[in-house]
Amino acid sequence: MSRHYDIVIVGAGMVGAALACMLGGSRFQVAVIEARRPKTRWPRDSVDLRVSAVSAASQHIFMALGAWDRMVEMGVSPYHEMHVWDAAGSGVIHFDCAAIAEPRLGHIIENRVIQRALLERMDAFDNIDLICPASITTIEDEVGQACVHFESGDAITAALVVGADGGNSRVRQQAGIATQGWSYEQKAVVAAVATRKSHEQTAWQRFMPDGPLAFLPLRDGRSSIVWSTTPQQADELLALDETAFCQALGEAFECKLGEVLQAGERAAFPLRLQHSTRYIAPRRALVGDAAHMIHPLAGQGVNLGFLDAAALSEVLLDALARGRPFHTQGVLRRYERWRKGDNLLTMSAMDGFKRLFGATAFPLRVLRNTGLKLANIDGPVKNSLIRQAMGLKGDLPKLARWT
Ligand SMILES: Cc1cc2nc3c(=O)[nH]c(=O)nc-3n(C[C@H](O)[C@H](O)[C@H](O)COP(=O)(O)OP(=O)(O)OC[C@H]3O[C@@H](n4cnc5c(N)ncnc54)[C@H](O)[C@@H]3O)c2cc1C
Repeated sequence: MSRHYDIVIVGAGMVGAALACMLGGSRFQVAVIEARRPKTRWPRDSVDLRVSAVSAASQHIFMALGAWDRMVEMGVSPYHEMHVWDAAGSGVIHFDCAAIAEPRLGHIIENRVIQRALLERMDAFDNIDLICPASITTIEDEVGQACVHFESGDAITAALVVGADGGNSRVRQQAGIATQGWSYEQKAVVAAVATRKSHEQTAWQRFMPDGPLAFLPLRDGRSSIVWSTTPQQADELLALDETAFCQALGEAFECKLGEVLQAGERAAFPLRLQHSTRYIAPRRALVGDAAHMIHPLAGQGVNLGFLDAAALSEVLLDALARGRPFHTQGVLRRYERWRKGDNLLTMSAMDGFKRLFGATAFPLRVLRNTGLKLANIDGPVKNSLIRQAMGLKGDLPKLARWT
């Protein structure tokens, strides 16, 4: 006979692991299923290829979950300023945390650090079982429950199945939830690089017609780059030897931080916009990339995912506290209404930026340079943009607010 859980979370990536911690210590019996064994060790001076710009709202969530101190111990890199400029004009925008009396704009953190700290925290809760490595194949509806089948032939049942299983979500496919979106016909090349000058704990981004190039400050003085460009150029960049790559990177970045001296391992990720038409179905809910994927230009993707997890856990725990069934469409709809509109707004804004900055037509170039200059004028509009970028605006779940 298969074991029964209240909630099964498929995927222990950053978002799934965060959701599990949010349900930790509650009366829910939770299983988390993860296909890949997460990294628990790595060489001390190595940097993960994948890093995230983590907003203040996400930091609040990690603090509330008791995972933040462990992240700090493993290494986080605060950034205080952000410089964005247009390669095809004189438009510049500069954000400084001092303008809104905040100690920092956010942190750059390796994805493996975030995931490991959350998994360690999750491990401390008796009501959560991690089933790993295990891949789910199908999910069937049975009377009063859903049955989750594994590749191994095993199965477990649950009142609610949450898909935190990324952009190609099996949970979403099995629930028959469609997606809308398109490929950006771009790939993001990522690497950790050393530069002649200090990154000054600043996030830098130059917009070029083929896509933005970001330098994100790492704690060891290096920068993590995200260079979004045509798939052809991305493949060429991956094929260059280290010296030629450093040269090309320095030129593309106007040598803002001096020469690029050294580049580590490189990889490229295809970029697409994808939004699920529904975040819920009977006994199903989607969070994180399973529900939405956006262009990384403003470093928002996983931050939105953490807010999804915080909102979903809040409505589920609220239903539990009121003694109501938590898996009903009424409860799940509250989650969907809360997060879908906010996510759509951010996705549309990021998509608009991507298109505006990719445009080469003269009127659009004038428009964006004028827009950047107006947005850069010190005052309430700019301060509001800074708060928005820090994730401090909007209808935030309790876990994401300062208490
Ligand atoms: C180049 C790049 C830079 C980015 N930079 C930023 C940034 O600075 N800030 C930011 O906020 N976001 C950023 N993002 C977005 C961010 O990386 C994603 O939003 C985030 O990784 C999504 O996390 P997730 O947990 O939802 O999904 P995933 O990380 O995809 O995790 C899904 C998990 O589910 C597991 N899984 C999948 N299928 C199954 C199955 N059938 N059975 C069991 N387990 C399964 C997988 O093994 C995986 O561990 C960036 C993205 C890219 C591509």
